[in-house]
Amino acid sequence: MNEKTDIQRLLPDELEALITSPPYSQPRYRAKQIFSKLHRGVRFSDMTDLPLSLRAQLGKMCLDTLPTVAEKLVSSADGTVKYLFRLHDGNCIESVLMRYEHGNTLCVSSQVGCRMGCRFCASTKSGRVRDLSASEIEGEVIAAELDSGLRISNIVMMGIGEPLDNFDETVRFLRLISCPDGLGIGLRHVSVSTCGLVPGIRKLASLDLPVTLSVSLHAADDGERSAIMPVNDAYSIAELLTACREWFLTTGRRISFEYTLISGKNDSAEDARRLARVLISHMNDGGRRLPMHVNLIPYNDVDGTGFSRSDKDAVRRFRETLEASGVTATVRRRLGPDINAACGQLRINAARKEPVQSHGNTERTKGAK
Ligand code: SAH
Repeated sequence: MNEKTDIQRLLPDELEALITSPPYSQPRYRAKQIFSKLHRGVRFSDMTDLPLSLRAQLGKMCLDTLPTVAEKLVSSADGTVKYLFRLHDGNCIESVLMRYEHGNTLCVSSQVGCRMGCRFCASTKSGRVRDLSASEIEGEVIAAELDSGLRISNIVMMGIGEPLDNFDETVRFLRLISCPDGLGIGLRHVSVSTCGLVPGIRKLASLDLPVTLSVSLHAADDGERSAIMPVNDAYSIAELLTACREWFLTTGRRISFEYTLISGKNDSAEDARRLARVLISHMNDGGRRLPMHVNLIPYNDVDGTGFSRSDKDAVRRFRETLEASGVTATVRRRLGPDINAACGQLRINAARKEPVQSHGNTERTKGAK
């Protein structure tokens, strides 16, 4: 059986090449019509500016599926919405819609599960099932906009998965959402978060996309970092920070370092001083300090990890010590405190109810909408 074409994954020039060739053989302007409708979540059957025959042909040969809302938690405190989305093959992922003064921000997943193995993280507990396609990642944005009625202006790739472990689809997603005929989200409003895949950071820098790079550091000592993040055995802190320095020198874009504060693990005043020392020594260019920022994230407890969140005093002491040592830091505001399941936990709960990982069959793909 022929697989349907994932037309939503195509960039404008690729879509034009497809639509102007047989069996479609349409004029070029049709490609533009299809692109702008598809990336606003309009199904082929509702593309009323297309001839009926073309709508039917597209429906027969191409996919126009979006993730569906499997579960939705809305914070009564601040309106934050946590979505559990179901994909066409039954796998589930999470996205979080946050309302900030500077615009609505969606935190998107890039993979079903994750294979990076960070000990504190819920998303990686049962490994990686599969990568998301660019259209599935974009589908999270479209589905969240359709469900909420809100326009999303900012994206953070900080949901389930490691974006740089799904490099090509991540880059394709970035190119898709920034198309003016599509969602039109400027890449300056996008953050890509990585646990520290050095070759991926270098490759992304070479593309010179104006995204913000967020690097999940979480420890300033190799022994301490390796104990919580296995990726550190492949790329040490020194190698990672060298790549971060190069990122800035190539792109001119400031780096944001994420540091999750875990009680008794990485949250002492000495840890803060060491972090400042390490960052200052690497993030400079011939004595010039490179712009950087540290985001402190109080840990969201995850069952079975044995880790717990640092208390308020430890968080304050850490931030003050960092700043006294010359590194600016903010403590991430806790959005949706009443729906505060850490990222990846909704999916785990859903998997407990129903073994979501085993639905890889085309029957579901065919029947899904
Ligand atoms: N793989 C990417 C993006 C996904 S995780 C990365 O590692 O950056 C997004 C951020 O949340 C990372 O900094 C991650 O380390 C952090 N994180 C994961 N689980 C967490 C938890 N339970 N509490 C607080 N931060 C967590």
